[in-house]
Amino acid sequence: MNDQTTKIKVLVRVRPLLPREASDGITESLVQMPDSDPTSVSLLVPTDSPYYSQHINTVKSESIDEYKHYEFDECIWSFNANDPHYVNNLQFYDKSGPDIIEHFFKGYNVCLLTYGQTGSGKTFTMMGDDSQPGLIPLIVRDILRQKEHLIGERINCQVKVSYMEIYNEQVNDLLDTASGSSKKCKVREHPVSGPYVENLKEIEISDFKSFRSQLDRGNKNRSTAATSMNDKSSRSHAILQLTLKQTRYRSESEDLGFDDSSDSIGDAEEEVISNIKLVDLAGSERLNKTKNFGQQDRMKEGSLINKSLTVLGRCINILATNSSNSGMKPNLVPFRDSILTYILKENLSGNSKSFMIFNISPVDFEETYQTLNYAKQVT
Ligand code: ADP
Ligand code: MG
Repeated sequence: MNDQTTKIKVLVRVRPLLPREASDGITESLVQMPDSDPTSVSLLVPTDSPYYSQHINTVKSESIDEYKHYEFDECIWSFNANDPHYVNNLQFYDKSGPDIIEHFFKGYNVCLLTYGQTGSGKTFTMMGDDSQPGLIPLIVRDILRQKEHLIGERINCQVKVSYMEIYNEQVNDLLDTASGSSKKCKVREHPVSGPYVENLKEIEISDFKSFRSQLDRGNKNRSTAATSMNDKSSRSHAILQLTLKQTRYRSESEDLGFDDSSDSIGDAEEEVISNIKLVDLAGSERLNKTKNFGQQDRMKEGSLINKSLTVLGRCINILATNSSNSGMKPNLVPFRDSILTYILKENLSGNSKSFMIFNISPVDFEETYQTLNYAKQVT
């Protein structure tokens, strides 16, 4: 198994207008996705944008709005809930979810990341709301279903959840607040199983209700600080981790059938461990957008967020290049350059399946442009 290669599936999802945007009179999306081609997305470049003359209208004398086109693995249209092409969370989940669950139960790791500016729909995609559960609750629902199903096949599954955030390159345990605040943890590296977060609390979940209560508790503990863009904007990366331990038991007939000297019936025969990491990344907007220059903490925060997102991009880019250059000597992936990528190492490499969802706004040209270009560059 080569841990320096991986093909990452790249998805782009555009969110609907917010009530505030609609009441400002906006009706159209700057982003278009043709029904006929689910892999393409176009962004309208306004004539007054500095990128317009730079990239687009260099030969034409007349200024008219132009589109910049991009291709990704999948483009998801969630612009208008009344549109027949609107993709809700459940429909979104149905495209990749079953594949993720199958891979996970085969014993492989999975990584799912949401990237985008604050307010672009990352948390909505991951967590959902009361009317539309997001990817995290839907994945857990199906894991618990599969767990029940496997009991009949003499496979015992133990599912554990842990929940952490990375804030200013520091890992905080969102499920361990015994000391009054989220416990600070260190990242260590095991010689065989790779990097892990030391003393991170892992809680066994037996049913959906027990999972939900841990999730809600963790969400309450997430570091949030008001920024001028969005009061609830989260300036940390949140990582929810699900670990599955499958133990296969020898069946009675197998025992009688081919191993007379075996121990008593029902011995554990094989143990397989896999994990999924679901990551709601910190907002990708640049610091100047949040108008917080001059505030020391914010400055530090902003540069560390930028750093980890840059390192993430670099790692994914090298992984993708290595996987398309199979046969050649792979380039080293700088997982250790940020806490985020270090923790994700075993979920981004080897036989892991990785998905990166780029959430974009239909109204903010500058940030959408940055996000789509980041997505293009890393893959
Ligand atoms: P982020 O986590 O990226 O800051 P949010 O997930 O909080 O952004 O989304 C911002 C707002 O947009 C929320 O009110 C959310 O409900 C809404 N929203 C985002 N994506 C969708 C979608 N696909 N369908 C409906 N509403 C959405
Ligand atoms: Mg959010």
